[in-house]
Amino acid sequence: MARLAIVTGGTRGIGRAICEKLQADGFTVVANYAGNDAAAGQLKADTGIRCYKWDVGDHEATIAGCARVAEEVGPIDAVVNNAGITRDAVLHKMSYDDWHEVMRINLGGCFNMAKACFPGMRERGWGRIVNIGSINGQAGQYGQVNYAAAKSGIHGFTKALAQEGAKFGVTVNAIAPGYIDTDMVAAVPEPVLEKIIAKIPVGRLGHAEEIARGVAFLCSEDAGFITGSTMSINGGQHMY
Ligand code: NDP
Repeated sequence: MARLAIVTGGTRGIGRAICEKLQADGFTVVANYAGNDAAAGQLKADTGIRCYKWDVGDHEATIAGCARVAEEVGPIDAVVNNAGITRDAVLHKMSYDDWHEVMRINLGGCFNMAKACFPGMRERGWGRIVNIGSINGQAGQYGQVNYAAAKSGIHGFTKALAQEGAKFGVTVNAIAPGYIDTDMVAAVPEPVLEKIIAKIPVGRLGHAEEIARGVAFLCSEDAGFITGSTMSINGGQHMY
């Protein structure tokens, strides 16, 4: 029987590419999303992938959402923690709410999904968790103390949970994308984006599919000896 993968924030951008690649690789895939019903409807229409709406930063909603997926589709074998937001501002202008929302969703979402899905993987003796970090969690970024802290936290979370899952056949890894051509990056002002691209050795933004291929490999049988690692996919921008 096909294994079941859930991709948070799976209806747009990198998440959607991950859903499509995992489906092509033989997983049954479900996507979670926050509120954009049109994007979810489009994914469902194009691929048949079922979409479930809840806020991954909300602990109770995440536990309930994953329980519903398990009941309606089956036990969750692979989790891709991809949902993420930005609330950029320099520290002296950043509100507590900007700090807290990014921590709650980007890092708290990983904890909430793991709480919901890791125990079952551990009991069944097989699981894959892939957390989407960021180059800006590795290198830091002006105007992003909240985002950089949350993404950096993902890397520590990954290494700690990997140690807990290892003897149960559950691998936990992270991918740190560089700048990828999605809605999130479209929000960056053009002059800033030009400066960013000038610093990418391969001379372009990445494509969502290039992240998806890395995720799919980490979710495969072939990657069973890889755990607690971070794969950087960034066009050579930051070598970590
Ligand atoms: P997008 O903004 O294009 O898509 C974000 C997705 O996350 C959407 O599906 C959105 O749902 C969902 N989402 C947002 N908040 C929540 C929430 N609280 N609960 C559930 N789902 C939520 O993002 P990208 O595709 O650009 O980024 C995906 C991931 O990759 C993020 O973690 C991001 O930080 C990371 N990343 C991106 C980079 C880039 O260059 N784009 C670089 C490095 C890392 P909805 O559509 O309903 O709003």
